[in-house]
Amino acid sequence: MSSLHRFLFEGLPVRGALVRLTDAWTEVLARRAQGGAHPPYAPAVRDLLGELTAAACLMQANIKFNGSLVLQVHGDGPVRLAVAEVGSDLSLRATATVTGDIDPGVGFADLVNRNNQGRCAITLDPRDRLPGQQAYQGVVPLFGDRGERLDRVSLVLQHYMLQSEQLDTCLVLAADAEVAAGLLVQRLPVQGAGNLESERLRQAQEDAIGRDEDYRRIALLASSLQRDELLRLDADTLLRRLFWQEDVRRFDPVTGPQGPRFRCRCSRERVGRMIVGLGRSEAQDILGERGVVEVGCDFCGLQYRFDAIDVERLFTPPGDAPPANQPVH
Ligand SMILES: [Zn+2]
Repeated sequence: MSSLHRFLFEGLPVRGALVRLTDAWTEVLARRAQGGAHPPYAPAVRDLLGELTAAACLMQANIKFNGSLVLQVHGDGPVRLAVAEVGSDLSLRATATVTGDIDPGVGFADLVNRNNQGRCAITLDPRDRLPGQQAYQGVVPLFGDRGERLDRVSLVLQHYMLQSEQLDTCLVLAADAEVAAGLLVQRLPVQGAGNLESERLRQAQEDAIGRDEDYRRIALLASSLQRDELLRLDADTLLRRLFWQEDVRRFDPVTGPQGPRFRCRCSRERVGRMIVGLGRSEAQDILGERGVVEVGCDFCGLQYRFDAIDVERLFTPPGDAPPANQPVH
């Protein structure tokens, strides 16, 4: 069963999290195959999406925020878009839009940054957004500080965390057809350093040197984790093997109905609002051509159908609505 494990290093300003998505991940892949609308993902795309989904879980687990964390890679290669969305209750969904053929063994940069135009967007979308309130979004190119193309999801996100959030982070990610997993180790920010007087600031900087060494040692251990170990080992074995010399304090794992699990947020109401957004004449054109407006959800495979009466109801102000029509799912 999918699970999330949080831990910290006793006495050190370093925290970590490990996520293993099993049933939640195979559900994402099964939904893709459902209905036959899309071919299954090529292995390289599948693994990229799995890594992105595991990373979104780790980042969501690490912030105090009531809403969805959305990681998007807008690609300029065969992968046009890869999206992973994780709610603060750890429910998740993910999908990718792919065009053309994928060569076997193709790397991350060739999938999403072929012409150097790829971007990664990190969005925090509050659950109860006030009218006019914007979601927070950071957008970064898929390059490092020296202009080098970043060739892994983990490198892009590590770079983002350091540049945008000033958080030293080590991420290890892996995915295959059965498991999407990730390990995150992060240095905790020094609390209130900006308000300290000069003497105390100097002291804090000296302390930070010691903390640097602790963090670097732990990050080095984390980065030694092999793809196969991350995919195959259970959390207890993995953390023991990796950090056996460290004083690790584990929190209760989160699993089952509270743990990472697949859930789609689509609804007939939302699809209805989207059709209203198209405008009445566009909707009528589609009805004229096909007799029905049909919208499929890319995340869960559900098909929503609106016939002529449904569409008329969407564009009719409440109170003037014609008799209810049975919704067809
Ligand atoms: Zn859906």
